[in-house]
This record gives sequence, structure tokens and C-alpha cells, in this order.
Amino acid sequence: MSDLLRALDARPTGERARIDFDAGGLVGTRCTGCGWVMWPERAGCARCGEVDLERYALPADGVLHTWTRVWVPAEGIEPPYVLGMVRLGDVRVFAHIRELTDELTVPAPVRITVCESAHPQFWFTPAGRS
Ligand SMILES: [Zn+2]
Repeated sequence: MSDLLRALDARPTGERARIDFDAGGLVGTRCTGCGWVMWPERAGCARCGEVDLERYALPADGVLHTWTRVWVPAEGIEPPYVLGMVRLGDVRVFAHIRELTDELTVPAPVRITVCESAHPQFWFTPAGRS
């Protein structure tokens, strides 16, 4: 078995960190071999196969590149709600967007909020809003 497969077997994906509630942001991994940043945390590099990865805190501020209003209910979430593609440094995150107005033009700066007791546990709002 390769080092990559051994590492992948070590922890199921569901047990890997996604959010650092104490730091107030998302956490992923950065490859020590090629520098590729991944979110959520991974056991091996998706680009070069390296298994020596380090924990990496994604920035709190990002850029919303596109969004859509969803009219179908999701578990615990009543429609309508907004989902969008946010770039956080080198990583793209598909996430809930709150306090968005139809007048907002993209790309637009956004900031993350995390809350362990909320559902979903993180979302983005346009910069300048809470
Ligand atoms: Zn790599």
C-alpha cells in the first residue's frame, strides 16, 4: 500500500477539520511538496500525491464570484437562500451567502462568519456588513 493510500485510510473525510471556530475561519491543508492549498483538510495532495501536509488557515476575507438564489428547501434551511462561489486565497468555496442584495455586482468582497451552533456553521456576507 502506498503512503498516500495509508494516509487516506488513517482518517475518514468526515473526521477532517473544516472550520476552526476558535480562529473564526476555515481550515484546510497546504502541501509541503508543491504548496497546493486544499479545503477541506485532506490526507494527501490532489496535485502531486505528497502526504506531508500542514494545517492551513484560510483567510477570512474573500471574493464572491457568482451566486444563485435557491428556492428548494434543504435540510434545516428554508428557501429562499443564496449560495455562492467564494475565492479565499487559492481556494474556491461553495457556501451560503447572507445579506446579499440583488444590486450587488460580482466580483464583490465578502467576509466569513463561523458559528458552531448555527446551521450552516459558516457563511459569507458582503464586506462592510456583519
Ligand atoms: Zn503537492
